[in-house]
Amino acid sequence: MNSLNKHFQRLSQEIDAIPIADAHEHIMERCESLAREVDLFDLFDRTYVKGDFVSAGMPVDDWVREEFDPEEGWRRISPYIHRVRNTSYYRSLMGAFRELYDFTDDELNDANWRELSDRIQAANKREDWYHHVLKEKARIEVSLLHRTDPDVYGTEREFCVPVLWVDPLLYGYANLVLLERKVQRQILRYGREALQKEHGLPLNSFDDYLALVDRVFRTATENGAVAAKSVAAYRRILLFEPVGRSEAERIFLKPDSEVTPAEAKAFQDCIMHLIVQKTIQYELPFQFHTGLQHGFGNVLANSHALHLNNLFFTYPEAKFVLFHGSYPFGGELSVLAKTYANVYLDFNWLPLVSPAVAERNLAEWLDTVPGSKLEWGGDCQHVEAVYGHVLQVRRVLARVLSEKVARGDFDEEVAMDLARKLLRDNVWEIYNLEQKRGDRTLDW
Ligand SMILES: [Zn+2]
Repeated sequence: MNSLNKHFQRLSQEIDAIPIADAHEHIMERCESLAREVDLFDLFDRTYVKGDFVSAGMPVDDWVREEFDPEEGWRRISPYIHRVRNTSYYRSLMGAFRELYDFTDDELNDANWRELSDRIQAANKREDWYHHVLKEKARIEVSLLHRTDPDVYGTEREFCVPVLWVDPLLYGYANLVLLERKVQRQILRYGREALQKEHGLPLNSFDDYLALVDRVFRTATENGAVAAKSVAAYRRILLFEPVGRSEAERIFLKPDSEVTPAEAKAFQDCIMHLIVQKTIQYELPFQFHTGLQHGFGNVLANSHALHLNNLFFTYPEAKFVLFHGSYPFGGELSVLAKTYANVYLDFNWLPLVSPAVAERNLAEWLDTVPGSKLEWGGDCQHVEAVYGHVLQVRRVLARVLSEKVARGDFDEEVAMDLARKLLRDNVWEIYNLEQKRGDRTLDW
């Protein structure tokens, strides 16, 4: 065995045993997954691989099932499997099927899909399924949970702690803003009416609005939120220019129909600066979606982390966590995290997008960025997908670190210290979880 292999074997074994603190998930509430029929089709529908099926020509409407019928589901997806089975999203799920469902065949086909689908269905009815997959198999101590519904604070703390999703606060420039969720084919109602309904506060003046922003942060921290998160990059450019409060107030007071797109952006710019200030006041690291957006028809250039640059130097006390390794802008991210003490780099989702890219980027980031500033998360809804991703990230780390050890960059002890930092310790430190756990009666 050559030295690279030797290092890889040893490091793999140790990395597989590291408990994980997972900086980002969308895991479905346990009661929801118990209530719904989770079969093979549903797993594909609620994981990233669906995007690959659509990209390979499967009509989006074919994902809408009027009634639960595993056979019908298989008829719809099976013609496309040979087109997508090379992608990392797909391979990662296959890895999870092997480990969780004893799926031993090389590929899915007409003869074996049904047994797998039945096993998925039966397992997801098990009371202990989440515990088995997340705790026993994936060895995840805690996941930071981003969900878009207000119930996020009621989530079962055995698995997840909540993150405050701030984007609805950006739409206060109008009473009603209709936004399309392309992947789910839904129209969502944003704006002051929705905020008023959710938070039960009057919004007659701009001062009322500022008070609501504060209330949202206070409620979140009182309910155990450990971070704030924005996915603004799905809807607009990440450049938030300084806009005075009087200008935002003027826009706030205009009738909906008279607010121009430029004014809507200016209002959002002003509120985003206020939100950053609130993250400092409430001591919440601020997670930003950057880079590749999931789904169809998004504008990649909007999501470039370089647009956020003015926030980094305007707010040195804020902690900015840039998500997804900003794929494909990993090189720029490396410079930002190196240059700014308040910029952290989270490569959640990245090993799932591509282990090759994750390895390439990590090799570079470990040369350039302090090891204390890197973290990982899963970014999945189904626990099977989380587990498939955990298998991938452990392998990615073992590969990158063993190569660095074989090249003589550092020894195995430093490599293991880095692995523990990236998979666990940094998340505890960056989000101050030890103190937050002590301060509040949380179950984790
Ligand atoms: Zn996410």
